[in-house]
Amino acid sequence: GSVPALDGALTTCRACPRLVAWREEAGRVKRRAYADWTYWARPVPGFGPQDAPLAIVGLAPAAHGGNRTGRMFTGDPSGDVLYAALHAVGLASRPTAADRGDGLELFGVRVTGPVHCAPPDNRPTTAERDTCRPWLAREFQLLRPTLRAAVVLGGFGWQALLPVLRDAGWQLPRPQPAFGHAAHVLLHDAGGELHLFGSYHPSQRNVSTRTLTPAMLRDVLRTAGRTAGL
Ligand code: SF4
Repeated sequence: GSVPALDGALTTCRACPRLVAWREEAGRVKRRAYADWTYWARPVPGFGPQDAPLAIVGLAPAAHGGNRTGRMFTGDPSGDVLYAALHAVGLASRPTAADRGDGLELFGVRVTGPVHCAPPDNRPTTAERDTCRPWLAREFQLLRPTLRAAVVLGGFGWQALLPVLRDAGWQLPRPQPAFGHAAHVLLHDAGGELHLFGSYHPSQRNVSTRTLTPAMLRDVLRTAGRTAGL
């Protein structure tokens, strides 16, 4: 298996009936500003090189963001904040993400999520998270040879990723490490180390309340990038 093969298989998944209905409904009804778009309206695969030393794990695509453009964090306010921060710390070729043809490149970073289909109210259920987990597990398995660090954006992604890491053989500290902004946990397995970082999610709410400022996000990404050798 390879990451592109995984991405291809993922885009045909229909395992979560509620999310299949929602992603397709968003593509039919659309938002007025995007009336000319043909929405992707399918599972949104991860984005970035398959030999990335750094993974970024978000939440789920937005109905009129990633679900429209077909690329993670592309076309919504969270993505605007994330890609600006990645560019500022030297991990992306440009500060904005418009669509799949915009030429944006990530340097050593793979952006993915624990749930690959847009959920109502941006809130997947825990059952949907568990149903989607094998995709995340497979992606981490494929990235593993080069993976040195992961940044998890928000508590939902943190809860989703920890069992993936444990099942893949990483030793998790006990008690299980708690999510928090700038949390940093070092995990070990037989072959080496993985640095796990937490950051608040760059959701519109977190950004507008300044729970997460662009500088806070840049700091975590810069530290994680350096730790990963980028
Ligand atoms: Fe499949 Fe994941 Fe989408 Fe559910 S959320 S339909 S498991 S890709």
